Amino acid sequence: MKLFVKTLSILSILAVLVAFLVQMPAVQEQLIQREITQSMSNVPDDLFAEDALRITLCGSAAPMPTKDRAATCVMVIAGGKFYIVDTGNRSTNNLGIWRIPAKRVGAVLLTHFHSDHMGDLGEFNMMTWAQGRDAPLDVYGPIGVKQVVEGFAQAYALDSAYRTAHHGEDYLNPAIGRMVAKEIRLEGDSATVLDDGALKITMFSVNHAPIHPAVGYRFDYKGRSVVVSGDTTKIEKTIKFSRDADVLFHEGLSRHIVKQMEIESGKIGNKQLEKIMFDIQDYHTSPVEAAEVANEAKVKELVLYHLVPAPDNKVAEWTFMRDVKEVRPTGVTIGYDGLTFTLPIGSEDIYQENLNDR
Ligand SMILES: [Zn+2]
Ligand SMILES: [Zn+2]
Repeated sequence: MKLFVKTLSILSILAVLVAFLVQMPAVQEQLIQREITQSMSNVPDDLFAEDALRITLCGSAAPMPTKDRAATCVMVIAGGKFYIVDTGNRSTNNLGIWRIPAKRVGAVLLTHFHSDHMGDLGEFNMMTWAQGRDAPLDVYGPIGVKQVVEGFAQAYALDSAYRTAHHGEDYLNPAIGRMVAKEIRLEGDSATVLDDGALKITMFSVNHAPIHPAVGYRFDYKGRSVVVSGDTTKIEKTIKFSRDADVLFHEGLSRHIVKQMEIESGKIGNKQLEKIMFDIQDYHTSPVEAAEVANEAKVKELVLYHLVPAPDNKVAEWTFMRDVKEVRPTGVTIGYDGLTFTLPIGSEDIYQENLNDR
């Protein structure tokens, strides 16, 4: 007992001493310097090794407000570059936290022009430019992407001019800070966006009616593949273009939860929300339907993303995933920001990690 009391008092003295020390400016400087050095040198270069196809979910939510999730964003890394499918709001912040190097940017690819898929386009362009991107930003998308890019460019024109004037053209060259819209016209139900012999990106049309156009993307890199569905109902085309893919990121909306939200909105007299909750139920895919798509396409791993609503506790997650296990007992992951897959070339392996744990 005596020893216990003695240890406790020594610990208390130490705690007081530490509390006193961290108030001293010299100690604070040391701690901050160490933190800055650590965070600046903590660039995830290994993600860009050309021995694998890698994918990180940089935004797992949809328009509904969430605490810890950005809106829709999928980062695909291949051939030493990264490609961003949809720049949902707050996704650029995620990329910054993970220290994704701006020099490695390949392109942005938009699936359609709902705000939860492009809200951060201006931020992404501005931040990668400020962080040393060495070429203008290519923004691919279906017809309409030109209008979107011009609009964002106009909204950010004053800010771009401020930054060039402030830091100088040698550092923030306006010729590099601009975006280049690459409007892709589908031939039938698909089009090749890029094919350099190692990486092939295919755009395919999906059904998000009444929203037109709306597309998904397939990435094939040295025998490994990933598909991003975009917003769609369950359709044959997603099955066709996801055939034998290693990973399918498919959107998911829980109809029974959204139906409940519609009913509750009606009860409190919120007609606006009641109408929207009713309207969104028929232009998305339920988690069970997404599991059926993955099964029919013989996809190895299904990731549900664009979660409507994004479950923020276990009960909500179980409700969201109701009946999925009966359809697809394994090979389903509910997406979260930071979820990362590594698909090594010349192998069937799929490794999973959380980028936030690095
Ligand atoms: Zn959406
Ligand atoms: Zn949409």
